[in-house]
Amino acid sequence: SRQWISGEAHAAKIIFIAIKLNGVQRGLISEIISQFQCKGFKLVVIKIVVPSKDFPKKHYHDLKERPFFNGLCDFLSSGPIVAMVWEGEGVIKYGRKLIRATDPKKSKPGTIRGYLAIVLIILFPCKNIIHGSDRPETAKDEINLWFKPRELVSYSSNAEKWIYGVN
Ligand code: UDP
Ligand code: MG
Repeated sequence: SRQWISGEAHAAKIIFIAIKLNGVQRGLISEIISQFQCKGFKLVVIKIVVPSKDFPKKHYHDLKERPFFNGLCDFLSSGPIVAMVWEGEGVIKYGRKLIRATDPKKSKPGTIRGYLAIVLIILFPCKNIIHGSDRPETAKDEINLWFKPRELVSYSSNAEKWIYGVN
């Protein structure tokens, strides 16, 4: 079957973003969506899920040796998460800058973690409210992990000509 991610050029333009449950519980969904939407990125896929017990272990498989791994995974399967795919030129690079440092204390005002979170407590993880893929390969893996093919939609946005300046 046809892959939703249509090639390397497309993979470079999409990012998987998750609003972790503390962001959801604190009522920050619309604020975080606004940050990406106002920039001009396109929201292509969105859903709210409570991940199963083992699911976060797949998502964070590269961190399994870290001391906070189990606590992080337990936390992420304990409540609702907003899973999204955003699309646009430079969305991974810009998205990571917008999210900023893993530790909100090191994140500048104006970044999502700098603006909306205060601490990251080692071994009691995850007060940094958001996840974003760090490169095209991880974006692709994460999108395929979080979404079934039939959940992945495509549409063209009428705003694009006003954002990218193509007449
Ligand atoms: N994390 C933690 N303690 C740490 C480092 C990371 O609890 O010392 C958690 C935190 O929620 C972070 C996630 O593990 O967002 C993934 O870590 P990563 O290094 O990939 O940071 P990110 O890409 O989210 O900035
Ligand atoms: Mg990471």
